[in-house]
Amino acid sequence: MTSPVSPAVDAVVKPDHGASRGHFIFTDEHEQLRESIRAFCQRELAPHALEWEETTFPNWVFERMGELGFLGLSYPEEYGGQGGDYYANIVLAEEMVHAECGGLAMGVAVQTDMATPPVHLFGTEEQKQRYLVPAIAGEKIACLGITEPDAGSDVAGIKTRAVRDGDEYVINGSKIYITNGHRADFIVLVTKTDPDAGYDGFSLFLVDMDLPGVIREKKLEKMGMHASDTALLAFDDVHVPADALLGQEGKGFYHVMWELQSERMIGAAGAVAGAQRAFDKTLEYASERTAFGRPIAKFQVTRHKFAEMATKIESARQMVYNAAWRVHNGEYPVREITMAKLHASRIAVEVADECLQIHGGAGYMKEYGIERVWRDLRLNRIGAGTDEIMLEVIGRSYGV
Ligand SMILES: Cc1cc2nc3c(=O)[nH]c(=O)nc-3n(C[C@H](O)[C@H](O)[C@H](O)COP(=O)(O)OP(=O)(O)OC[C@H]3O[C@@H](n4cnc5c(N)ncnc54)[C@H](O)[C@@H]3O)c2cc1C
Repeated sequence: MTSPVSPAVDAVVKPDHGASRGHFIFTDEHEQLRESIRAFCQRELAPHALEWEETTFPNWVFERMGELGFLGLSYPEEYGGQGGDYYANIVLAEEMVHAECGGLAMGVAVQTDMATPPVHLFGTEEQKQRYLVPAIAGEKIACLGITEPDAGSDVAGIKTRAVRDGDEYVINGSKIYITNGHRADFIVLVTKTDPDAGYDGFSLFLVDMDLPGVIREKKLEKMGMHASDTALLAFDDVHVPADALLGQEGKGFYHVMWELQSERMIGAAGAVAGAQRAFDKTLEYASERTAFGRPIAKFQVTRHKFAEMATKIESARQMVYNAAWRVHNGEYPVREITMAKLHASRIAVEVADECLQIHGGAGYMKEYGIERVWRDLRLNRIGAGTDEIMLEVIGRSYGV
């Protein structure tokens, strides 16, 4: 394309609203990956989405995704991964919306971008062989236990204790709202090993969920994300060997803060993609639905709603891609990730609400799926850290 500012005198320059590639951070390989994930979601997952809202999605989804290589896109080949870069994870988070099943996308994201990254970064070789390799293959399902009945935003307030006893640790405590908690084979568990040591008193453990004393108390009923399972877990004198410690003893708080960045990035990418999908569906609906003799999309007020939503989505997407670019380049951009997570979550909720409004009564009906998107996306402002906590993190990063 010639410069839009000074086109050749005889050229007619028309706006180009389509782009062959999503963004300059993505290569042709990423776009091919995007296509294959999307085709898999549309062909093998989306047809079951409604059924899984009732039953939660089945475990074969992990096995199948492991077989296709989707659970280890950026992990090294020596552990069964695809050896790709960080952008591949963003592509996965974006394309999973085509499963049309928010709870499923969340369950998979817990496996790929929340529970396994600490095993890869902090784990010993033996731990990687025992947990990371089968998790990438889809043979073991992972969950992550941070939140407790008395401590969510205030991670430092957790009470789950791990006490050294000879060659073992004995764990007692409970965790709540744990995604994949009912189906998981292992949990990356945040505990306190030294309650008097402040932020230096936390440790992570890899705990097999079939150990005596691990109790899957109940499946929690939720407002949305119905296809995922969400557990209340109890740990009652659970004995784990000393080598179940993940990372350094006493450094678990810092390890989990690192993990949360990955969780927030992927949550933000998924929120943008979810908003985009709601937008696309709604644009289609508004172009077909007529009122007062014309498609409702042709009312200026509706057109402006689409313009506002598109601009919001684009702003959040650019923030996600910018933060991903920094991660890709080896930075630890906590402020940018936090801003992207906050903004993406907020706009996703706003877009879902506006889309529901544009659907009118149909938006309130289950059949159109938009009310489900509205319920599912609402979680983004709470999970992986609430909006208020994101604002705290951003504000404090300026030293105030
Ligand atoms: C469906 C679902 C799935 C989840 N999956 C997992 C999982 O797999 N693993 C896991 O560990 N956790 C999981 N969570 C937990 C989630 O991360 C927490 O719910 C979230 O971090 C908020 O913690 P809380 O619920 O205890 O809220 P609280 O901490 O009790 O917060 C309540 C309110 O107080 C506000 N607040 C708290 N502190 C401050 C402050 N300092 N300043 C201003 N406002 C404040 C909050 O923003 C919020 O509005 C999940 C939650 C849900 C709903």
